[in-house]
Amino acid sequence: MIAARPVTLALWYTLAAASTGRAASPPDLILAHGTVITADSADSVAQAVAIGDGRILAVGTDAAILALQGAQTRIIDLHGRTATPGLIDTHAHVADGGLGEVYDVQLSDAASVAEVVQRVRARIPRLKPGEWLLGEGWDEGKLAEHRYVLASDLDAVSPDNPVWLEHTTGHYGAANSYALRLAKITPPTRDPQGGTIDRGPEGRPSGVLKEHAQELVTNLIPPPSAEHRRNGIRTLLETLHREGITAYKDPLIDQSIWDAYRALLDAGELAEHVCVLWGAGTTLASAREALKSIEAQPRLPDSLGDGRLLSCGAKIFMDGSGAARTAWVYQDWNKDRTRLDRGNTGYPLVDPQVYRRQVRLFHEAGVSVGTHAVGDHAIDWVVETYAQVLKDKPTRGLRHSIIHANIPTEHAISVMAALERRYDAGYPEMQPPFMWWIGDIYAGNFGTVRSQRLEPLRTLEARGVRWSGGSDYPVTPIAARYGLWAAVERQTLKATYGAHPFGTAESIDVHSALRAYTSAAAPQLFLEKRIGSIEPGKDADIAVWEQNLYTMPAAEIQHLRCVMTLFRGTVVYRAD
Ligand SMILES: [Zn+2]
Repeated sequence: MIAARPVTLALWYTLAAASTGRAASPPDLILAHGTVITADSADSVAQAVAIGDGRILAVGTDAAILALQGAQTRIIDLHGRTATPGLIDTHAHVADGGLGEVYDVQLSDAASVAEVVQRVRARIPRLKPGEWLLGEGWDEGKLAEHRYVLASDLDAVSPDNPVWLEHTTGHYGAANSYALRLAKITPPTRDPQGGTIDRGPEGRPSGVLKEHAQELVTNLIPPPSAEHRRNGIRTLLETLHREGITAYKDPLIDQSIWDAYRALLDAGELAEHVCVLWGAGTTLASAREALKSIEAQPRLPDSLGDGRLLSCGAKIFMDGSGAARTAWVYQDWNKDRTRLDRGNTGYPLVDPQVYRRQVRLFHEAGVSVGTHAVGDHAIDWVVETYAQVLKDKPTRGLRHSIIHANIPTEHAISVMAALERRYDAGYPEMQPPFMWWIGDIYAGNFGTVRSQRLEPLRTLEARGVRWSGGSDYPVTPIAARYGLWAAVERQTLKATYGAHPFGTAESIDVHSALRAYTSAAAPQLFLEKRIGSIEPGKDADIAVWEQNLYTMPAAEIQHLRCVMTLFRGTVVYRAD
């Protein structure tokens, strides 16, 4: 059981002089007459905040804070609205997702295969023959036909163009026959290591490619221009501000994405805290390449732009996806909830022994590692690897993470708890909105029994395991309100197998959920001294909401409306 955190109306304040040792000068800005959820260690709630020089100077009652105002102080009246720390997403593919959102065909709201085909047909006239058509976001769990998009669906509308439509998870996609021809994928083509060429009944490739098999096609797609890269990020920064998000981890970048972030930073356009992980690939050689890139950048705790851009570490994929049934699990995957996908326990995407050597390489170089691990088998392998390298070279504070950690075993949870305590490492970075946005496929694939162990947030809290939240955008929509809601409600989008196929025993309260997107997330970006709570001395990253998420009906949290966002004391978004 988790006791609900006390919501005391703690009416305290601290003068800037007390926290910084400098003489207090009047604040530049005061937010007053609100409900200020500070997300500090006592979960205190105040009324007003004083801000100076981009930092929080004081937090407290209206009377105490308004008494600090000087002649130049600007006052923003919150009219009883609720302020929280700017929200933090520990797993959002902002650069890649933004690029797709701006330039590719969007399929996340397509309701049928026919609609997917229609959107492809509509885009084709804008392309020259032979030019690639890219799209993404489809999800068979949301399509009326409840099946994959296939080459045979796409061929009639795209005879002269290669087409690649990525699934919302990014772990599989659909190619048309033109693209399959370019990739030289024919019936005798064997599955590559760590990948699956999906086949129809007579063994012909269906067009769907999973995990590393996708690269047979995606490696042929011309890379985006630097300008497109920047535009993609720019567009998403606006979305983030509209949703009260002021910090995130972009968990799979390469040099071109780093260069785009640097260009935006240099142009003064990066009004976010961005922490990036460099893709380490599947071999020791590729990991060494990534290490070289990491060593060429400022090393933690240093950053660029005073905490705006941080090179945080390396990213490795241990396994695949719960949607594609490629995640590495102990027991056969299910399909359609109760049927067995006999003989399929998924697979590692990297040779497990090579993985260990990759992690050791980074660990010994003092570099943080984030490993994607969805299945129980994969998660065990990852936490045991972390335990081993930490035992061999004890280091505190590298904060190696388990990305997704969808169905950790009891053993894995114990190892996480021990590693967090002993080494400040082994943190799960989880995405509650998986249960909602791709929850209908998940419920079918994980099956009745295993589903109850999905995202065991309440157990993690009870065992003292600190976890943080995220969207895995563009896998799910980027707004953190969906994650806050999903952590509490655990509902799927379509209720294909009932609204709560994962049960509610692992639901948490909104206080714990908010912590996962604020104070518990900040350390995973190595910014816990600067963000994650509204406390004197921290950056004035603040989101203001129409409703009070602590008192509104839990079912409504997904509709939480952001009315204003501040980044370092500057208003970067204001609703009309
Ligand atoms: Zn991801």
